[in-house]
Amino acid sequence: MTRNGRFRFVRLARFVVLAGLLSCMVSSLARAQFGATTSREAGAPTNQVIAIRAGHLFDSRKGSMAADQVIVVRGDRIDEVGPSGEVQIPSGAQLIDLSRATVLPGLIDAHTHIFLTGESHGRYEEQLLRESWQYRTIEAVLNAKSDLMAGFTSMRDCETEGAMYSDVDVKTAINRGLIPGPRLEVATRALSTTGGYPLEGYSPEVTVPSGVQIVDGVDQATKAVREQIKYGADFIKVYGTHHFRFTPDGRLVSVATFNLEELQAIVREAHSEGVKVACHAYGGPGLHNCIDAGVDSIEHGLDLDDAAVAEMKRRGTWLVPTLYVYEFEPEEDLAATNGKTSRARIHEVSFKKALAAHLKIAFGTDVGPFPHGTQAKEFEYLVRFGMTPAVAIQCATVRAAELMGWDDRVGSIEAGKFADVVAVEGDPLRDVTELERVKFVMKGGEVYRNDLK
Ligand SMILES: [Zn+2]
Repeated sequence: MTRNGRFRFVRLARFVVLAGLLSCMVSSLARAQFGATTSREAGAPTNQVIAIRAGHLFDSRKGSMAADQVIVVRGDRIDEVGPSGEVQIPSGAQLIDLSRATVLPGLIDAHTHIFLTGESHGRYEEQLLRESWQYRTIEAVLNAKSDLMAGFTSMRDCETEGAMYSDVDVKTAINRGLIPGPRLEVATRALSTTGGYPLEGYSPEVTVPSGVQIVDGVDQATKAVREQIKYGADFIKVYGTHHFRFTPDGRLVSVATFNLEELQAIVREAHSEGVKVACHAYGGPGLHNCIDAGVDSIEHGLDLDDAAVAEMKRRGTWLVPTLYVYEFEPEEDLAATNGKTSRARIHEVSFKKALAAHLKIAFGTDVGPFPHGTQAKEFEYLVRFGMTPAVAIQCATVRAAELMGWDDRVGSIEAGKFADVVAVEGDPLRDVTELERVKFVMKGGEVYRNDLK
């Protein structure tokens, strides 16, 4: 750099520092003015103190169970946790007796669709063609409540399926305490290419709504990412594959949507704004494009080949497998393959590969096509296909929190974290289906459900 250039650089640097300071001041002023109503999450009042006696407590960091513990909750946060002999219960604390139950951190579902309500193929079309965004938002509110009552205190909701930015409103209403629901990260509209998402099969003369934002080319993709973040997307959901078919010998062929350059542009733009990218992909070139472009998570990953597994391992790409949802549709797939195979069976092989390679796996269910509040069924499949119950629960607590970038606030019962606590009657390490029967739900220090009284 020349002397002149250096001088200019110093002046520029001073300007940048000053401008930075100014913008910090302006934004903290703005936060002071509006923050109280827009960003504070609703929870128990700060002076409320609760002591929970836990017969057993799952330590999601260690993956182990501890007996006879006490959790002190102050306001919306955990204040202290430890063996009952060591933790002093503050005088005047409200006692919650879960001494005959197993207590766990609030569960996290990293792949949900609160804007879908029990889809069969026809129902999806009906929702997009006949129901307003407002009506669908009312359904989403009820779905979110069902998920919370089943023990899911945090969720990453993976697109509104045509209801535009309505998920941002549901999230805001939950955070303001207007309605009960999990803490949400929302994707808003999601992205795919022309021909890469329903509604499909209509005459070219008819304009029909689309379940996602359709964009083509680097410029449109970049703009769409900016737009979605502008209107409240916490992460970007992208389709790396969409159509699929089976070959006569029962192999799954997944058709790519975006090309590598488009995906690189999406990831570049999202990451430059500090936003992660979740990529729906089954297998083949579309899957590889997503991994190579640097997406943060592969959703479903039905057909991971060895090269994909190796590259995900190298990059630390997350897998959100969503096993259970594919168990619903084997008849259709079996008919297409003359009984040879189905997406569920291909997925099983793929998941076992991911497990053997120790890929980073987070719990996600794709709930929406099947009824909200029943997604804990996923645990059974994770365990059936080789995961230990302890690891499966870690995937739905600490690991999902890490994927969401929320490991500083949820996913474990530790001092300083949100008091998101659930309980079941039996021992989920012995029978993981206990998690299908959550009896106690606390979120942010507020009790939403207690069937153990
Ligand atoms: Zn999904």
